[in-house]
Amino acid sequence: MSSATPSRRGFISPRPLARMGPLLRPYASRLAIAFVFLLIAAAAGLVFPAVLRYLLDAAFEQGDRGALDRIALGLLGVFAVQGIANYIQVRLLSSSTERIIATLREQTFAHLIRLSAAFFTERRTGELTSRLSSDLALLQSLLGTWLSEFSRQILFLLGGVLMMVFTNPLLALTTLAVVPLVVGAALTFGRALRRASTGVQDRVAEAMGMADEAFGAIRTVQSFTREGEETRRFRGLLQDLVTVAVQRARTRALFFSVVGFVAFGSVAAVLWQGGVQVLAGQLTAGALVAFLFYALFVAAAVGSIATLFGHFQEAIGAATRVFELLDTEPSVQEAATTTHLTSPVQGAVSLEAVSFRYADGQPNVLHEVSLTVAPGEVVALGGRSGSGKTTIASLIPRFWDVTEGRITLDGVDVRALPLQALREAIGMVPQESVLFSGSIRENIAYANPDATDEDVMRAARAAHACEFIERLPDGWDTRVGERGVKLSGGQRQRIAIARVFLKNPAIVILDEATSSLDTESERYVEQALEELLQGRSTLIIAHRLSTVRRADRVVVIDRGRVVETGSHDELLTREDGIYARLYQIG
Ligand code: ADP
Repeated sequence: MSSATPSRRGFISPRPLARMGPLLRPYASRLAIAFVFLLIAAAAGLVFPAVLRYLLDAAFEQGDRGALDRIALGLLGVFAVQGIANYIQVRLLSSSTERIIATLREQTFAHLIRLSAAFFTERRTGELTSRLSSDLALLQSLLGTWLSEFSRQILFLLGGVLMMVFTNPLLALTTLAVVPLVVGAALTFGRALRRASTGVQDRVAEAMGMADEAFGAIRTVQSFTREGEETRRFRGLLQDLVTVAVQRARTRALFFSVVGFVAFGSVAAVLWQGGVQVLAGQLTAGALVAFLFYALFVAAAVGSIATLFGHFQEAIGAATRVFELLDTEPSVQEAATTTHLTSPVQGAVSLEAVSFRYADGQPNVLHEVSLTVAPGEVVALGGRSGSGKTTIASLIPRFWDVTEGRITLDGVDVRALPLQALREAIGMVPQESVLFSGSIRENIAYANPDATDEDVMRAARAAHACEFIERLPDGWDTRVGERGVKLSGGQRQRIAIARVFLKNPAIVILDEATSSLDTESERYVEQALEELLQGRSTLIIAHRLSTVRRADRVVVIDRGRVVETGSHDELLTREDGIYARLYQIG
């Protein structure tokens, strides 16, 4: 599943718009005031041709200089009112919409960051960030300008038509004859535009997803010298993007040209018919000019409404996407009624006949696995690569939920515990420690933002990280670069260990690094781990002999089943045992 396809059946689907309601509510009064000023500005705009009519007739028909002066001054007043009203409206509206979109962005981010591992294995992060930026930018345009422009143009349309009928009913009839044509065009093209636009947004998200992935794995890309290939892949995606974008532009261009021609064609008809009336003395020149202005207003309004309608379709496509993300339920759900752990957490972990598959329809990767880690015990998981060790480790903090069987912590099913309490009880040291782009101090304090400098230092000391931190030019304030690229593997690992010290969990899950560290780092990491595991229940995905030796028990996993259990020495004595064989090879 790359991205779900939203329903494109409805012409304007009201659902995404209705969903915006609660977001708009806090700003209802501001938006209402903005609308009043919009009305004032539009009214001023509509009054202008009427004033113009008297101005022209005063000058050309009556030759009244005094009237001309007064009317010109009045006209200035009308424009001033329009300017001020526009200013207030735009200010009120944009300050509200900026906040509304920020709220929606935040809600989307807050929602996404809580989704389960399953979601993130299916969606690329770059695609998600693209949705957060470009789809929401479309929505912002909708609220910020398109909606107010739409209202303004509707007012101009209605007001213009009224004034036209009022000025000259016969001419009005000629002009309005084109309206059904324009509406028909809008209906035909609108749907095509929405489809094209959703296609463009999807391609943008896809391309961004790919770029993000390439940057994320920059070392791999460069070490295999695949820069050219990646660029080619990106170019391929961009070409797709260009194809759909050009298609959209073509639809748009055709749409606007057709609508423009129809609208302005009617202006030509009005000029002709009006000219005939002026020649016959049935119409003053001022009234014809005023009428023309109204006709232009109406034509421009119809054109803009059609354009905006196209934009609406784009924004609705974007909104649908965003709300779809917001509707994604985490596959790992908080229990309706939760049981609390007795404090302090003892750290007894037990897997009871756990079977697991990553998705429905896929084969089980774990088959009735049962194992226990008693409080304070160190258990190593051994076995070939791909046997299911990492999977077991990720079921305990509920990154995924078991398919069958259950996992308990201090005798309570982990699914009955509040997620936060469960995860607070577990400290994880991953194979590749991921750091954030802040300072070393911030990176350690990530485990507990309330920690004092004192606490952070104590944790770093326990993790044997002080040794290198204090030698760095900026010490604790050294910035580690994105994902910690400025530190060595061993250094990153010690920071990750310091984090867990600071967290002080009852249970530690350690995925041992496969890549070998330099001897000095290795020694420090060993010592740090030695201290970290003191008195904590520990599950280690073991790759090193020194670790398995230290474990109280080794549980050997093969093809998702527990096949052997015992101490390192016991397991070695089993001649035909998998462990003994693995050990001989390794
Ligand atoms: P180990 O840690 O022992 O090397 P893993 O637990 O990583 O093994 O993998 C066990 C099996 O589960 C492998 O066959 C692997 O391909 C599969 N697997 C791992 N992660 C996923 C995933 N996100 N989706 C589907 N299958 C997965």
